[in-house]
Amino acid sequence: MKLTRLRLIGFKSFVEPSELVIEPGLTGVVGPNGCGKSNLVEALRWAMGESSYKALRASEMNDVIFAGSGNRPSRNSAEVVVVLDNRSRLAPSPFTDVEDLEISRRIDRDKGSTYRVNGREVRAKDVQLLFADASTGARSPALVRQGQIGEIINARPEARRRVLEEAAGIAGLHARRHEAELK
Ligand code: ATP
Ligand code: MG
Repeated sequence: MKLTRLRLIGFKSFVEPSELVIEPGLTGVVGPNGCGKSNLVEALRWAMGESSYKALRASEMNDVIFAGSGNRPSRNSAEVVVVLDNRSRLAPSPFTDVEDLEISRRIDRDKGSTYRVNGREVRAKDVQLLFADASTGARSPALVRQGQIGEIINARPEARRRVLEEAAGIAGLHARRHEAELK
C-alpha cells in the first residue's frame, strides 16, 4: 500500500487545511528553517498512532494543536488524514475492497484522540496494528529521526533484532501475539 496523500488541519504550524499529494517516485520537502518540514513527518507518525508526546517534540499531547501565532488565535482541535492506495487489496477486513484507505486521527483539546478508518471509529491499537502489518508504523525504521542511526549502532542486541524483524515484516505478528497474551 502506498502513501498518496497527507491532509493536515490545525496540526502544529499547519493551521489552514493543507494537503500534500505524494506522487510516485522520490519526494523531497524543501524550505527554510522552521517552515514545518519536520512537523509534516511528525503528523504522519502521529496519525499512525504515536503515543509518546516527547517523540513529537511536545510537552503534552495538546501541543500538537495549533497554538496561535501573531494575530491568529489558537485552535481547539487538530486532525491528520493519511491516505493509502489500496489497489493491491492488502487492507485488512472489512476495508479490503476500498480503493483508498483513509486513516484519520483527531484530537480535541483536553479530550484526547479519536481514530477512524474510512469514517469508522477504531481503537489506536487497530491503527498501530494496521501499519505494523504493512511493515511500517510510527516507530518503524522506515521513518528515521535525527540521531536514530547512531542509536541503532549503539543499541543492545534485542533492540537491533526488532529492527531486523520489522524489515522482515513480522513485527505485526509480535504485536498481535502481545495483544492476545494481554486478553
Ligand atoms: P528545520 O529546517 O530547522 O529542521 P523545519 O522545517 O523542520 O525546520 P519544524 O520543526 O517542522 O521546521 O517547524 C517548526 C515550527 O513549527 C516553529 O516555528 C514552531 O513554532 C512551529 N510549531 C510547532 N508546534 C506548533 C504549534 N503547536 N502551534 C503553532 N506552531 C507550532
Ligand atoms: Mg526539521
